[in-house]
Amino acid sequence: MELWKKSIKELKELIEKKEVKPSEVMESFAQRTRDVEGNIKSYVTDLTDQAVERAKQLDEKISNLSEIPELFGIPIAIKDNISTKDIRTTCSSKILENYVPPFDATVIKKLKNKEYLITGKTNLDEFAMGSSTENSAFFVTKNPWDTDRVPGGSSGGSAAAVSAGLVPAALGSDTGGSIRQPAAFCGVIGLKPTYGRVSRYGLVAFASSLDQIGTFTRTVEDTAILLNIISGKDPKDSTSADVEVPDFTQFLDKDIKGIKIGIPEEFFVEGLDPQIKELVMDSAKLLEKEGAELVSISMPTTKYAIEAYYIIAPSEASSNLARYDGVRYGFRASDYRDLEEMYSRTRDEGFGAEVKRRIMLGTYSLSSGYYDAYYLKAQKVRTLIYQDFMKAFEQVDLILTPTTPDVAFRIGEKADDPLQMYLSDIFTVSVNMAGVPGMSIPCGFKNGLPVGMQLIGKPFDEGTIIQVADRFTKLKDFSKHFPEF
Ligand code: GLN
Repeated sequence: MELWKKSIKELKELIEKKEVKPSEVMESFAQRTRDVEGNIKSYVTDLTDQAVERAKQLDEKISNLSEIPELFGIPIAIKDNISTKDIRTTCSSKILENYVPPFDATVIKKLKNKEYLITGKTNLDEFAMGSSTENSAFFVTKNPWDTDRVPGGSSGGSAAAVSAGLVPAALGSDTGGSIRQPAAFCGVIGLKPTYGRVSRYGLVAFASSLDQIGTFTRTVEDTAILLNIISGKDPKDSTSADVEVPDFTQFLDKDIKGIKIGIPEEFFVEGLDPQIKELVMDSAKLLEKEGAELVSISMPTTKYAIEAYYIIAPSEASSNLARYDGVRYGFRASDYRDLEEMYSRTRDEGFGAEVKRRIMLGTYSLSSGYYDAYYLKAQKVRTLIYQDFMKAFEQVDLILTPTTPDVAFRIGEKADDPLQMYLSDIFTVSVNMAGVPGMSIPCGFKNGLPVGMQLIGKPFDEGTIIQVADRFTKLKDFSKHFPEF
């Protein structure tokens, strides 16, 4: 039995019925990791051996338990910008290379309460700024479907780990597409929940009004299981929302008759690869056959989302990253004459090119004299984008789009062209700007590379996304489809 091919749900059942031990589960994933991680490089900090040891302890513990915790012995990988107590959290940046947080992020606490096994901290674009994981200060993660290609980003390590079968699930973060775009490139399911659904406490801040923690899984059922666990109001994050958390597994195995799905014309225009367009439209028609109703809609201001995002995100980043001054965290330059020079050398040596570019862009947009023309204007555009979504949701229950304009690109192909790189998020950023939930689901292949479609829901209505995605994956299931090495 190849345990590493199983979903969380399947593994849970085997462990609960005592048909397999946690150590057997973990050993299977560990063997898979030994076999393929060298080609993929998804982990900045690989904790597989520790997880194997911990799993052996769980074998002992299980006999004394009257109730088995929900993630008992389930291996999960964590993006390396989510704080883990006593485990290095680098954000794939030199400036935090040796930083070990003294506390856990709220999501980590919640997973620990359910007795999950952490398998490692996954690679990302430095501070989650990027779309390919090439901006990591350490190394590039490879796409498991073609190791000459990028896994997407910024959560490329998490997406690649789930895709290659190193873990059944991983956590990531999404500010403009960093869960959904790599999920699409790697052929797995990625959910960015509604802004405020999941606590950001302990997520290293990039752009605080856009950042959200979410999941990578192979099945929609596993997404529902994890979302149940990580969601909810957190007194430590004032932007986490005090809204009821439904049991998301209730949305599984339901029919989708009468659900209205909007197809926005602005997302099917030039720049979108024709084969991807066809795959996504075929998927929409499949949902129509199942009883959903397709409705053409228009969201005219979403076409300004990238421009507005690249004002707002860098502005917030320039402020959030001011804390890395060589005094409080991690790296400090060794050679300086005075305090001023200590600051500037620390930041010059500690940050990579993309992070510096964003800090400069953001500082410029926020400076007096330019604030109204850039930052304020971008905020106004953001409001219009939000209104576009709310207007659409008066007509429809969900919106369906491609996740990316094309499949995974080659390593190096866009590395020297930031504008091209920024455009790979063209279909995902507006979702963060509006704060609504979005999921990428595999819907087919183009030349052997995975293609994703995106389902976007009303605020706090991850349930309907799960319902429709679950139905879809019952018809087109890629969860047992693994890349070969
Ligand atoms: N690729 C986008 C950026 O570089 C989004 C990143 C993200 O979602 N963290 O900002």
